[in-house]
Amino acid sequence: MVWSADLKGKFSTSAAVERIRSREPKVNWPAYIWKPFLHPAIASNIWKLQQQIYVDDKVMIKNGFEVVSRCCICTAEQDCMEHTLWKCQFSINAWAWICSIFEFEIPQSFIDVCKLAHHKSPLSKEVWMIVACSIIKELWFQKNKKLFEEKSPQLNEFKRKIWQFVYEGGFRMKDTKWGQSYDQHIIDIFQLGVRQIKYSYIKECFWKAPDQNFILFCCDGSSFGNPGAAGFGIIARDSSCEVIGEMSGGVGTATNYIAEILAVIYALEWAFVLKAQKVIIRSDSKTVINDFCNDCVPWMFRARWLNAKQNSENIIFQHCFREVNFSADDLAKRGAGLRAGERIIHNGRPSFLKGVEMLNIVYYRIC
Ligand SMILES: [Zn+2]
Repeated sequence: MVWSADLKGKFSTSAAVERIRSREPKVNWPAYIWKPFLHPAIASNIWKLQQQIYVDDKVMIKNGFEVVSRCCICTAEQDCMEHTLWKCQFSINAWAWICSIFEFEIPQSFIDVCKLAHHKSPLSKEVWMIVACSIIKELWFQKNKKLFEEKSPQLNEFKRKIWQFVYEGGFRMKDTKWGQSYDQHIIDIFQLGVRQIKYSYIKECFWKAPDQNFILFCCDGSSFGNPGAAGFGIIARDSSCEVIGEMSGGVGTATNYIAEILAVIYALEWAFVLKAQKVIIRSDSKTVINDFCNDCVPWMFRARWLNAKQNSENIIFQHCFREVNFSADDLAKRGAGLRAGERIIHNGRPSFLKGVEMLNIVYYRIC
């Protein structure tokens, strides 16, 4: 086996594992179901359904059995899992009931279920996941009750069961609610008791001018997808806040991290062209700033980094919040639309706000 070092030049066990493992296509639904608050009996059955480990009449017919197929719950349509979970009149009623509580649209697939609570509080997301997963599991399992015990499904009985699942799961839910009546409404319905609340607060931040004789390079990388079409943006200012120039560049398909690193490398190389000896590099990526400070740059850029370091008298790395790095961010987004290696440079063209104007503005960050 030829074992190579990782991006930062380290030989690690995980890099070796990475080398020999074979990768399956990535799916994102498992992240929603393997949670401490969701009972494994429920989660494992959702997993089976998603992996299509079940037998319904559709599968039987496909395997060559001749069966007269009819949904045993509504007796109206042919039996198949798609029908049982989403199309059967009984399941539609069950979903309509729960969706009226959560004010959601009725889902048509498990992917829909995962998406629905996206903009809700962490607690509401947990409750929704328990509710939805137990409904799916119960819709599947109640078929057995009907087939083998001759028990017809009752919607009220069904609702009580789901309620019980959520109530029990409530003891394992740890996430916080938001201070909204929406969350309180759900807590009251499922009697989840007292829950911790998370308040977001607004933080003031400021854009700072570079020190005397320093040239400031605000850098940012951007990628549409990770990895995806990536680009970087740099805007250079002198100590009187005057814009010296701006640069957008295309990286091709890369990760966001690589785009951020490249932004810094190009900024340093540009500093050399501008004959800047004292340089401030500012980026909103803490990882990138730390990596350059610790001299831990990906191996493919190492030579360029060492070269650039030699050419400057003083390089200072500064981290800033995304909120005050908007001009570089905008240039990076423009860069992501360019072809790999393509660059657009404007020298001395002031863009966005002038630095002096930026100094006098308070920016807000929601934490
Ligand atoms: Zn049916």
